[in-house]
Amino acid sequence: MVASPDKKLIAEHERLKTEIHEHNRRYYVDDNPSVSDAEYDRLFDRLLDIEKQYPELITADSPSQRVGAQPSKKFEPVTHSVPMLSLQKVTTREQFEEFNRRVAEGLERSDDIEYVTEPKLDGLAVELVYRNGILELGSTRGDGTTGENITPNLRTIGSIPLRLSEKTARSYPLLEVRGEVIMRLSDFRRINERLTAEDKQPLANPRNGAAGSLRQLNPQITASRPLLFYAYGISEWHLSGLSSQKDVFALLKSEGFRVNDLVGYPRGVEAVAKTFDKLIKLRPSLDYEIDGMVIKVSDFADQEALGQISRAPRWAVAWKFAAELAETILKDVEFSVGRTGQVTPVAKLEPVRVAGVTVSNASMHNEDELTALDARIGDTVVIRRAGDVIPEVVEVVREKRPKGARMIRFPKNCPSCNSELVRPEGESAWRCLNLACPEQVEGRLFHFASKGGFDIEGLGDKLARQLISQGLVKDPADLFYLKKDDLLPLDLMADKRAANLIAAIDRSRSVELPRVIYALGIFGVGEAAARLLAEQYGSVEKLQEASTDDLVSIPGIGPVIAKTVHEFFAHDDTHRMLRKMRAGGVLFPEYRSARSEGIFSGKTFVITGTLSRPRSHFKNLIEQHGGKVTGSVSKSTDYLLCGEDPGSKLDKANKLGVAVLTENTFTEMIA
Ligand SMILES: [Zn+2]
Repeated sequence: MVASPDKKLIAEHERLKTEIHEHNRRYYVDDNPSVSDAEYDRLFDRLLDIEKQYPELITADSPSQRVGAQPSKKFEPVTHSVPMLSLQKVTTREQFEEFNRRVAEGLERSDDIEYVTEPKLDGLAVELVYRNGILELGSTRGDGTTGENITPNLRTIGSIPLRLSEKTARSYPLLEVRGEVIMRLSDFRRINERLTAEDKQPLANPRNGAAGSLRQLNPQITASRPLLFYAYGISEWHLSGLSSQKDVFALLKSEGFRVNDLVGYPRGVEAVAKTFDKLIKLRPSLDYEIDGMVIKVSDFADQEALGQISRAPRWAVAWKFAAELAETILKDVEFSVGRTGQVTPVAKLEPVRVAGVTVSNASMHNEDELTALDARIGDTVVIRRAGDVIPEVVEVVREKRPKGARMIRFPKNCPSCNSELVRPEGESAWRCLNLACPEQVEGRLFHFASKGGFDIEGLGDKLARQLISQGLVKDPADLFYLKKDDLLPLDLMADKRAANLIAAIDRSRSVELPRVIYALGIFGVGEAAARLLAEQYGSVEKLQEASTDDLVSIPGIGPVIAKTVHEFFAHDDTHRMLRKMRAGGVLFPEYRSARSEGIFSGKTFVITGTLSRPRSHFKNLIEQHGGKVTGSVSKSTDYLLCGEDPGSKLDKANKLGVAVLTENTFTEMIA
């Protein structure tokens, strides 16, 4: 029979929970971690050790509950105790003025109302129920009345506190916090690059990414996705003794919730409109998608006085950004050839403003889409522009079709080089297979010189076109043979600009391997895959020798990419181009990633006991020499770095026959 935990252990467990919660908050909410990963892992391991020994100590608020529970079969319905209402919407200043006038009339006041404003995040609305300070239930908004119970999934999100302070738990035995779960744009792009590299279906957009990740029956999948929770309100404010939305934000912040830092408190129409204009300007620089601004009357007594109409409160409104759809005339369709030979129909439009930007080109994707749209030249078409996605034609307004509108035919031959196009089975794209096709060469050259590749400043698509049409460059390797005098006859090429370009090319000769691999433009190899390949092989020569089997064994490289990469490097043209680049002075420096090279390459360490320096110091040293540090001793551990007063980890290492290093031995090894 197992003894029950003694007081000391219970106190230690409690202390660990508090400490880990605090570290989580610094990491996920304040973006300002205060301990090393190794130290964090050490605390977490100790917590798990204790809970393994005494499962009765596991509580709903233990950080161990974040890692993802067992998958469930379906989501249970949850009825919201206070319905999650929708918002009235306005799209123009006049409409907002009208809203403001109704508010002022309702409150029998002048129109100088104090509002609180915040960006309208484009994610998934959820509600978190805290009972006696512990996160008990988390659900989606659903239809506003009934949502789905996704508690285990929400627990995996680091920016959602599992428990509140004792003071708040006492003042609010029941607290319902509402907010939005989002996926950052940078995370969205990173995940899609990885999914593509693994030959998996990419996420459609960040909102679908967040919603799809949250509505996983397996919480471990949710746990693997970087999601953020922004709190914007509490449902039972009338019970709470708070007097305004400002108080709510202060409370939420003090309890460790993320609150949007663009929250504002403008007074009156003019100030609100200014805040809105500012938000429009900020929008492109934000790392998350927004579709407008939420404006609420700040004071709770005023909110209550205004009440609600059917399903929406009278005291709040969403001012949405200008429509992302617009109608315009289709003037022509051009067929462009991408760097991989794919031919894309591009709509040439009567310029039109959509979501704040003038659009004159839009994608029509491929032949099947073109057929489905059944657009004719002269048609009125609806175009859509969303986030940072390329504008697209979504439909044709049939009623407005003029007489004699011309049909569009997908070409049989390449619009750039006139080679016959082919459509590989199972693909939706027609391709030009001629590698010397001028438009493909332009595309490859532009990609080669792009920021993620050789990063040659000043080499844009226009210059790429000129270099090729003037016969100065036939493939990217020719760049390294250009002289200033070659450039001077080109359009708009003054002496200074030519000199700058030559200098930029010169600087690029020593770019690191991941950029070189990306720049080569191998089909399906984005920046993330290029980095994986560079870390694995360290040089172009070694990568060239890799077999498909070698490549597919790299985590993150799928079978299709592996085959493409192998075939690319086996090709004579590739060999020729690499030789030419080398002869042109490209250095191809050996790549030493912090992770893959050094005397501890591939070795796994665990650190325990008290050392002469902080653990982060040793962790850095190990990583600099190619090793990695994990939190707990297992069969796959290679070394235990052991200081004074080691704990149970030393026993475990001895039992498993893991090599134990003292600090002195360790220091000698790296010397
Ligand atoms: Zn072609």
